[in-house]
Amino acid sequence: MIDLKRNSKKIPVPASGLRVKKKFIYKPNQLEDFKISRGKFWDFLTCPKCFYLDRVSGLDVPKTPQWTLNETTDLLLKKEFDHLRALQKPHRLFIENKLDHLVPFQHEEMDAWRDALHRGLKIRYKDTNIILTGGVDDIWQDKITKKLIIVEYKSQAKNGLITTKDYLEDPYHKGYKVQIDFYSYLLTSMGFDVHPTSYFLVCNAIRTTNNFNKLMKFDEYLIPYDWNNDWVEEEIDNMIETMNCDKIPDANPCCRNCAYSEEYAKLKSTKSVQNGDSY
Ligand code: SF4
Repeated sequence: MIDLKRNSKKIPVPASGLRVKKKFIYKPNQLEDFKISRGKFWDFLTCPKCFYLDRVSGLDVPKTPQWTLNETTDLLLKKEFDHLRALQKPHRLFIENKLDHLVPFQHEEMDAWRDALHRGLKIRYKDTNIILTGGVDDIWQDKITKKLIIVEYKSQAKNGLITTKDYLEDPYHKGYKVQIDFYSYLLTSMGFDVHPTSYFLVCNAIRTTNNFNKLMKFDEYLIPYDWNNDWVEEEIDNMIETMNCDKIPDANPCCRNCAYSEEYAKLKSTKSVQNGDSY
């Protein structure tokens, strides 16, 4: 994908390929605290090499565009649930799904926990200098057991009905399950009693209407997911070991970006030899 570096006025400027802000670069075996977000942990699981080049080597990784339509459903859902949070009343989806014993959880830190950029759920990992963070979409509460329920809002546009089985078994949704497993680890480490079942609130845009007419309709699904964070600590340990190592880890062989850059490097050297100049 093409990602042009731009200045504050959105004008394209030459890209150096290096990060400017040093606080995002980890020095192997450093003693100062260093934050790792849920997103960076997922990067490590997907490709340790890219994670290392980004966090340790300080390369400026190309960005993906902001998904503003998806963010809009999140924003509107947040308003909807905050209204009911203040009233401590169940949402219509709870009633439809026979979950009327649930309410949106009220806590003074809720806004901070949902702020993925600046705060999120936060713990120090064991006795290390690694601070783990993750911005959760929402937390509900079982009024009977008082346990907390982790919730992720997801927006998509797929034809047909969505079943829990299909949704959870979709390989593209593996990262979503990792996301909730990680949040469950953070919340339990923060001392909260977390319900074993979390939910994906899926908003699926309906693509079969005959026109747009300034209106996009959605179906809503509540997909239960029984989280499992047994595996999380082992992977965090692996991640920290990788960060403290001087060796760049192996790349993910399935990545098109790396395959592309390797082919580009080969092409460049061939063309340079043929033409006697750079490509
Ligand atoms: S394999 Fe892909 S994700 Fe990994 S370092 Fe290469 S470009 Fe990055």
